Amino acid sequence: MRTTVGIIGAGPAGLLLARLLHNAGIDSVVLESRDRAYVERRQRAGILEQGTADVLRAAGAGQRMDREGLRHDGIELRFDRRRHRVDFPALTGGRSVMVYAQTEVCKDLIALQLAEGGPLLFEAEALAVEDAATDAPRVRFRHQGREDVLECEYVVGCDGFWGVARKAIPAELTQVFERTYPFGWLGILADVPPSHNELVYARHDRGFALLSMRSPSVSRLYLQVPDGTDAGAWSDEEIWDELERRFETADDWRLERGPITQKSVTPMRSYVHEPMRHGRLFLAGDAAHIVPPTGAKGLNLAVGDVVTFARALTHRKATGSPELLDAYSETCLRRIWQAERFSYDMTTLLHRAPGTTGFEDRLQLARLDRIASSRAAETDLAEGYTGFPFG
Ligand SMILES: Cc1cc2nc3c(=O)[nH]c(=O)nc-3n(C[C@H](O)[C@H](O)[C@H](O)COP(=O)(O)OP(=O)(O)OC[C@H]3O[C@@H](n4cnc5c(N)ncnc54)[C@H](O)[C@@H]3O)c2cc1C
Repeated sequence: MRTTVGIIGAGPAGLLLARLLHNAGIDSVVLESRDRAYVERRQRAGILEQGTADVLRAAGAGQRMDREGLRHDGIELRFDRRRHRVDFPALTGGRSVMVYAQTEVCKDLIALQLAEGGPLLFEAEALAVEDAATDAPRVRFRHQGREDVLECEYVVGCDGFWGVARKAIPAELTQVFERTYPFGWLGILADVPPSHNELVYARHDRGFALLSMRSPSVSRLYLQVPDGTDAGAWSDEEIWDELERRFETADDWRLERGPITQKSVTPMRSYVHEPMRHGRLFLAGDAAHIVPPTGAKGLNLAVGDVVTFARALTHRKATGSPELLDAYSETCLRRIWQAERFSYDMTTLLHRAPGTTGFEDRLQLARLDRIASSRAAETDLAEGYTGFPFG
């Protein structure tokens, strides 16, 4: 099998890249180790920055998002039983975000790829990337019980944090920057209309909580829990009771309860792999970097990477110049580090780490109070949340 761009992974990064290349007249093959149903059901991100929504529209993948997605013009910060709304358009010159689940983004892109794009092979597991530093990189993969080879001009590893692409970059050329956090998020999906019309980020002495939504009838809520927590150890009632405590306000706001349909625990990690390119192998999305979900940046970073790659390869095909491909890693990393900083700031602003002192508690409250009382501090948060520009 032969193609111009071999794409490993059909998450948001790989699927969008295939679409962008198709629109630019460049052929690709996507290899995905899981089956279609699994990829379409995997619950993860749900906030699209304005730039991400614009890219999906321009790629011809935004129709259902514009019909069913929920435009959000702000978030609420909750601390000390107080509520403070951050108004994005007023602070950023009109920017907003879109609530539209990653599962739906993937479904839309898969349908388009199967109808109009190049091959998208499910249950095709990449085993290794070979000859990455040459002009003819290859992906060895297993599909329908047989081993095969995909010969490429370029390979893009969009295979997430646990993928194989990153391993093809020699360790001596690599630097890894990493932080793990001593807590995770217990996330639930519940069949109940969201109790607030925008996301609520709550800082509480018992830990962080987030109220978000997937649709007007489905809520997505999270609780900070100790690292290594088993989701099954929490009964539904315990979860609702704890959410209620952490979202408490001085007014008569109420949290509506409903049947919980899914429970899982997500660990929190910051991770950056540098460089994101080795010869003709490029890394994109979670394959190269992870952010804790507090800043809602993971999916949006993946989109930024593949937009940068598609633009660079199109430039190369049109002009013969490798200049943008050569700058790929540096261009992406500038935006990635801004998102790493923002996600770290949001995480340390709102979570309570084990062993936190009274002094640190007071500092956290002072940071929140500063955001609630200074337009400059609030603007910084709004700009970060609605998204840093693509390189
Ligand atoms: C549990 C969880 C919850 C999250 N929640 C949020 C959130 O609330 N907000 C937020 O902004 N972000 C969240 N994220 C992060 C966000 O979902 C990711 O940043 C985003 O999925 C990145 O997209 P990606 O395409 O780079 O990687 P992925 O979505 O991980 O896609 C990688 C794909 O590659 C496939 N693959 C892996 N190995 C191989 C192989 N060897 N061969 C072929 N295919 C392979 C995988 O099956 C997968 O389909 C969450 C992540 C996780 C894991």
